[in-house]
Amino acid sequence: MEKKTNFIREIIDRDLKANKNEGRVHTRFPPEPNGYLHIGHAKSICLNFGIAHDYKALCNLRFDDTNPEAEKIEYVNSIKEDVRWLGFDWGRRLFHASDYFDKLYEYAVELIRKEKAYVCDLNIDEIGKYRGTVTEPGKESPYRNRSVEENLDLFARMKAREFEEGARVLRAKIDMKSPNMLMRDPILYRIKKIAHYKTGNKWCIYPTYDFTHCLCDSIEGITHSICTLEFEVHRPLYDWILDELKVHHPQQIEFARLNLSHTILSKRKLLELVEKGHVTGWDDPSMPTISGLRRRGYTPESIRNFCEHIGVARFDSIIDLVVLENSIREELNKKAERVMAVLRPLKVIIDNYPEDKTEQFDAINNPEDAGMGTRKIPFSREIFIERDDFCENPPKKFFRLSPGKEVRLRYAYFIKCVNIIKDEKKDEIKEIHCTYDPKTRGGDSPDGRKIKGTLHWVSARHAARGEVRLYDTLFKKRNPEEVEEGADFISNLNPNSLEVLTLCYLEPSLKNAARGGRYQFERLGYFCVDAVDSSDKKPVFNRIVSLRDTWSKIEKAAKKRK
Ligand code: ATP
Ligand code: MG
Repeated sequence: MEKKTNFIREIIDRDLKANKNEGRVHTRFPPEPNGYLHIGHAKSICLNFGIAHDYKALCNLRFDDTNPEAEKIEYVNSIKEDVRWLGFDWGRRLFHASDYFDKLYEYAVELIRKEKAYVCDLNIDEIGKYRGTVTEPGKESPYRNRSVEENLDLFARMKAREFEEGARVLRAKIDMKSPNMLMRDPILYRIKKIAHYKTGNKWCIYPTYDFTHCLCDSIEGITHSICTLEFEVHRPLYDWILDELKVHHPQQIEFARLNLSHTILSKRKLLELVEKGHVTGWDDPSMPTISGLRRRGYTPESIRNFCEHIGVARFDSIIDLVVLENSIREELNKKAERVMAVLRPLKVIIDNYPEDKTEQFDAINNPEDAGMGTRKIPFSREIFIERDDFCENPPKKFFRLSPGKEVRLRYAYFIKCVNIIKDEKKDEIKEIHCTYDPKTRGGDSPDGRKIKGTLHWVSARHAARGEVRLYDTLFKKRNPEEVEEGADFISNLNPNSLEVLTLCYLEPSLKNAARGGRYQFERLGYFCVDAVDSSDKKPVFNRIVSLRDTWSKIEKAAKKRK
């Protein structure tokens, strides 16, 4: 897909022209390892690594790991896997905020020496009260004017484990009356007697996100710190810290985060879905995580194209899920092999077809790409068709099979329904009987007679059996955050987000389908062999997306909303 320019690239172009940063461009993707990456992160990854790629510049992968209680090596590993899978390479530029804990401590000491930071003994509640509100200025802490010596001594003793958690914090000395609440003497360090997944028990004081983030960018020589809009109000604090310490000052640029309809993009909430068992894990194929999308059958290319297509903006909006779905549809239409599979089987017996005969028909692997060739599919007396493709008392314009009507079996013959056998106990059709016309071999009309319906089918004797999982949106509502009073986003979960069909019949070529393989089931949609639950004995297919593109549906919905 062709790269579009955007306001971020315009800023970079301008900086390059002015020879800012000696003509360097250096970005980074800074995830916190407290969960798996989601499609929102993919937008940020594509943006940061994409810029590095296009400007022949560098992009670091940096773990922002300053909250030991929530961070895990499992998350670190999954994030690395996902970034690589998306097609990006950080080379030797893998860093951690925790790599700089010593350096950050020195910076904090420097601020104390400059009388720009102090140790405060107020507890968290008191600090909150002293902070004031948006309409009322804050009050200065009684500890604000401690001497440099006393502050240095207390900060060293915080580090030396002499105090309990919550007893003391280090704060920046800025302005308790600032209209920007974040500038009212923000906390720089707090005591946490928790082991860190990387530094173990070396530290019991940890720097806050705000203190860490801007300084890590500075230490790494990042030129453009690209982040989401909510960090705009943090920018004055970052400017203050970097200016007081007189260190390299990256340019922060904010863009709107991705919101996707019918799903949720917040690691905290996704974690809740995992922990409460609403999904089978972070890689559940209904999750908007990169690992969930991968398992569902999305390709890295389809996600990159999606991110390119939606672009970057300075205002928040919700992108329709269909936009993401269309990205994979477009790709698989070109690349996926067509096969026949019957998901809700109904047996058809062709009375005038010899019992022991098998014919092989040529089927086209992809009408979009002749180079993908053809394959043989076996035909015999007993086949399966979709239950939906037969109707005993058809409405007008029902062009599929019904008593006395003729349809085409794709690649095979015309058949006509002559009898219905019912299972009286279950009040259900057990099987139907048809006759075929030998003159229609290959599905061609011998005398120009018009047949409107063409059905997919699978030979009963030759079929592979498999399970098919039909996924629908994870949430019922376009915006799952919109909830009734007293309820939370969980109440908007779609109870029908998954339908499992345990006995489906697949054409025999699918017996060798590799895990992760993607196919178009003719007339049904795009499906992917599940990488976790599928086995040779029982293949499992996830529906990636249905076939039809639903543009008209979204447009209608968009009009309705207006
Ligand atoms: P979450 O709200 O899901 O916990 P986060 O911002 O706390 O996300 P981080 O690990 O800090 O998660 O995110 C790493 C980077 O990804 C940040 O630079 C952040 O701006 C970006 N990012 C996170 N969510 C989105 C999103 N929905 N759209 C675009 N970028 C995002
Ligand atoms: Mg964050």
